Amino acid sequence: MILISLILTAAGCKDLNLSGDGNWAKNSLESGPDVKVRILRKKIFKHAIFEWPEGGIEIRDHQGHKIPWPPGARRVYLRQRGDQVALAFKPGPAAAKKATPYPSLGFHSIDNQISIAKLHVPERRFRRQYEGREFQIVVTRGRLALINVLPLEMYLSRVLPAEMAPSHFTLEALKAQAVVARTWALKNLRRHQRYGYNFCDGPHCQVYQGRKVISLRCERAVKMTQGEVLAYQGRLAEAFYHSTCGGNTAFIEEVWGSQPQPYLARVQDHWKPGYRPYCARSPYARWRARLSLRRLEQAMRKNRTLGQEEKLKQVEVDFLDRSGHVKRILITTNQRQYRMPGPKFRTLLNRIFGQRRILSNFYEIKMQGNKLAIQGRGLGHAVGMCQWGARGMAQHGFTYKEILEHYFKGTEINNFYNMPAKAAGKTVPATKKP
Ligand SMILES: [Zn+2]
Ligand SMILES: [Zn+2]
Repeated sequence: MILISLILTAAGCKDLNLSGDGNWAKNSLESGPDVKVRILRKKIFKHAIFEWPEGGIEIRDHQGHKIPWPPGARRVYLRQRGDQVALAFKPGPAAAKKATPYPSLGFHSIDNQISIAKLHVPERRFRRQYEGREFQIVVTRGRLALINVLPLEMYLSRVLPAEMAPSHFTLEALKAQAVVARTWALKNLRRHQRYGYNFCDGPHCQVYQGRKVISLRCERAVKMTQGEVLAYQGRLAEAFYHSTCGGNTAFIEEVWGSQPQPYLARVQDHWKPGYRPYCARSPYARWRARLSLRRLEQAMRKNRTLGQEEKLKQVEVDFLDRSGHVKRILITTNQRQYRMPGPKFRTLLNRIFGQRRILSNFYEIKMQGNKLAIQGRGLGHAVGMCQWGARGMAQHGFTYKEILEHYFKGTEINNFYNMPAKAAGKTVPATKKP
């Protein structure tokens, strides 16, 4: 309990409150509310090194007291010691032994400027540069946790190239992605609120890799849409996106069983019937897999979906949902027939034959001797914007507004920074303290 409250203190929960005065600098990546992104959430490590190219950093402990830098030092060596972080200014075991432990540490850039930190995690052979106003270090659930605090617009400019390779996408498609990514972020600020930060850096939230890939085109796309979000009936919309729909997008309720949303319904991803889908040039537009029925049978016996004497005779699609995706599979063995939900079957196949074999729930199955021949379309859940479709539309001359209108019917583009606080959900209540 003490630990969690320390984390929250370190994370400054009041900062999650976004109801500021809206006085953010215009047309700059340094605008928008600050967001807290946990770096390397899934990795366990006990040691991290931070380096700043030029000074300008203050170190503060969990109570906000300044820790003086020794003259000439630019690097800090952090090591987990129990539930505390030990800080040293020199490498090596002797310095580590003498290092002072703190419940948490914050590295703040002076005058609230953006500074660039080099992060090195030796155990993971991980080196990367991150920009931010602040870096927070805590120990949470027995792990070292690093939190990067930076303005939303700057965060988006780094999320974009990680989510959508800039070499493949033109400006209007990237602008559409910027609006969608911004809307998603603002709608999901509380995703990791319990732990005192907003987002992780993986696909669970949006992929964020700091300055690993810097794309001027992505920065432009973010700047040109500064503050723009998708709204439905005056409120922030649920802005989902995926790689390739393969022909049409999906109803949200068919994919996740959630509340239907008029703007997250099936969209035919083409100009007119008979025309190729906008995402036809995606490398995932069409795919095939030939899978061994015997291997499937063995795996199903092992996980006790099949009895020891049971043999697979036939596997077929039983039922499609309204989006055209496989909803149910019919399995015939030498003893019985039974049905399995489509998504469960896909997870099973990917577990047996390797991830990235069955890329979506949009496929057909044919039996070919003792093989399952699967022909499919698209990659991802197919809800919301199709990224490769957005690319196709942009190449046909559609603007980002037209692209968003196509995928999210009935939504409008609002400027978040001018939206009334309530509609925008700007006020996030302070994190509950245990
Ligand atoms: Zn996450
Ligand atoms: Zn598509």
